[in-house]
Amino acid sequence: MVFKKRPRGKKKEWQVDIANERMYILFEQADRRFKTYPNLSDRYVEISRNISTKLNVPIPRELKRRFCKNCGAYLVYGANARQRVNSEKQYVIMTCLKCNQKKRIPYTDEKKKEDRKEKEN
Ligand SMILES: [Zn+2]
Repeated sequence: MVFKKRPRGKKKEWQVDIANERMYILFEQADRRFKTYPNLSDRYVEISRNISTKLNVPIPRELKRRFCKNCGAYLVYGANARQRVNSEKQYVIMTCLKCNQKKRIPYTDEKKKEDRKEKEN
C-alpha cells in the first residue's frame, strides 16, 4: 500500500481512509458470518466502533444503519430487525428485535443510496 504525503497538523487523511476501509471489511465479515455466528457479527460491530472512537473517524452512514446503536447488534432485516416504511411521512423505522430500539431513517436517504448504486453499476 502506498501512502500519500501526510498533511501536517490536520487530521491525517490516510488514517481516515484506512479506518473506513477497515470498517467496511468488518461489516462485510459480519454480514458473512451472521447466519452461522451472529455473536461474531456483533463482535465485528464492536471492533468497528472501537476503530471509530479510537481514530476519531465517524462510521460511514451506510454502515451505521446496519447495527443497533443501543445494544451493538449487527442487524439483518427479517432476522433480528424489522423495517417499517412510512411512505406518507417519508421515513423508514428500523427496530432492533434484540432490545427494541427504534431508529428512524429518512426515506430520501434511501433513494440517494439507490441512485449512487446505479451510477456505480
Ligand atoms: Zn438493539
